[in-house]
Amino acid sequence: MQKHFDFLVLGGGSGGIAAANRAARYGAKCAVIEKAQLGGTCVNVGCVPKKVMWNGAALAHALEHAEDYGFALTGIEFHWSKLKQARDAYIQNLNRHYQTSLEDNKVSLIHGSARFIDAHTIEVEGERYTSEHILIATGGRPLVPEIPGAEFGITSDGFFELEQRPKRVAIVGAGYIAVELAGVLNSLGSEVSLLLRRGHFLDQFDAMLRETLMEEMLEDGIAILPRTQIMEVVRESGNLTLQCENERRIPGFDTLIWAIGRAPNTEKLNLEAAGITPDKQGYVRTDEYQNSQVPGIYAVGDVCGRIALTPVAIAAGRRLSDRLFGGKPDSHLDYTNIPSVIFSHPPIATIGMSETEARELHGDAVKIYQTRFTPLFHAFTQHKVKTVMRLITVGAEEKIIGCHIIGDGADEMMQGFAVAIRMGATKADFDNTVAIHPTSAEELVTMR
Ligand SMILES: Cc1cc2nc3c(=O)[nH]c(=O)nc-3n(C[C@H](O)[C@H](O)[C@H](O)COP(=O)(O)OP(=O)(O)OC[C@H]3O[C@@H](n4cnc5c(N)ncnc54)[C@H](O)[C@@H]3O)c2cc1C
Repeated sequence: MQKHFDFLVLGGGSGGIAAANRAARYGAKCAVIEKAQLGGTCVNVGCVPKKVMWNGAALAHALEHAEDYGFALTGIEFHWSKLKQARDAYIQNLNRHYQTSLEDNKVSLIHGSARFIDAHTIEVEGERYTSEHILIATGGRPLVPEIPGAEFGITSDGFFELEQRPKRVAIVGAGYIAVELAGVLNSLGSEVSLLLRRGHFLDQFDAMLRETLMEEMLEDGIAILPRTQIMEVVRESGNLTLQCENERRIPGFDTLIWAIGRAPNTEKLNLEAAGITPDKQGYVRTDEYQNSQVPGIYAVGDVCGRIALTPVAIAAGRRLSDRLFGGKPDSHLDYTNIPSVIFSHPPIATIGMSETEARELHGDAVKIYQTRFTPLFHAFTQHKVKTVMRLITVGAEEKIIGCHIIGDGADEMMQGFAVAIRMGATKADFDNTVAIHPTSAEELVTMR
């Protein structure tokens, strides 16, 4: 195989594949180095399998409401293993699709673990490859705490390997992955406890979102255990007992999932040989053009410690290739106003500043609009899932600087509103848009 490339990409995940394919289309000779399955976290142990499970969970919720709409349901069974088999087959197809996309673009694929020899040389399985431009897109991995018995737990990676539905599961963590896994497992019939170190989850999000979601999760039967610090995990006759602070014991789990955060995959890259010093947590810090501190070495995606989402990694990777090989010297990703969704039950969609952030920056110039209602769908159901929407505006023109929604359909609602908000929409622009009736989304353009 050829040993010199115009562009060497470490990591065949969302960011790496996007950057390599884009550069190759400009005519650059590219190679992607990947040590595992193509597609990275998102395809194999992230967004995609998670969304499949969320879809299954959404169906379970729909079944719960079906009788209120006149259906008589009998003999309903759920087979976790059947869903898992179908999901795994779908993901294998995606892996092949990514391989084909690289082949179509004439991007070389090198299997193995990459490490730097110097700023322009990478070693994989004893072979050396050189390039003027090297992209670090090695993503991240889930963390496990350093406490006795931690190895009895699994992480989100292990969740996707479960062959059977757990009966009684403890999920430890307060980020979106913890919340999503708790919702999926609960909806599909597991008994779920969510253990939080502090009083609440989703710290970074608008308070309205986390407070409303907490109400809904409790209503759904998830046990939320705030201020629970696990000191040790003990396995007793096949079950796990969580030994917590202040002599508290929580026994009887068959599955324990750590969702306490993620760390970047940098420690095996031998970054020092290239002259890169990662930050304290191991992230490769980059400027707004994805340049690392060493000329010719770039980083995109989760390894940068910015916004850890697939479309962010893809967008940053493509813009980098546009800049390096596409004759667009100013191409870079604007990291502000990036919309995102939490696939909870109900889902959350959000863009821009929370109320707290807005008030810190703009003080009394901030005005909040909020509506809380029962969607028409739930007018007929016994279990009434609320929807809450919030617009954060600033100044006399009431420019919208934050939009936060929790409720059915929020996930599909936000993309279009995000375009408007990025374009600088004001409250008056929202008000002047004729509503689509009857929908939940119309409430966003009719708020008083
Ligand atoms: C459970 C879960 C759910 C998620 N849900 C969503 C979601 O709904 N929406 C969303 O936008 N994002 C979601 N994410 C986040 C998303 O998956 C990541 O932001 C995205 O995959 C980051 O892409 P990346 O290219 O930076 O890294 P990755 O996709 O992780 O790719 C990095 C690749 O580099 C490889 N690698 C690492 N080290 C080396 C090495 N030394 N040599 C060779 N190869 C190496 C890895 O094997 C991996 O394939 C989720 C993540 C998780 C864990």
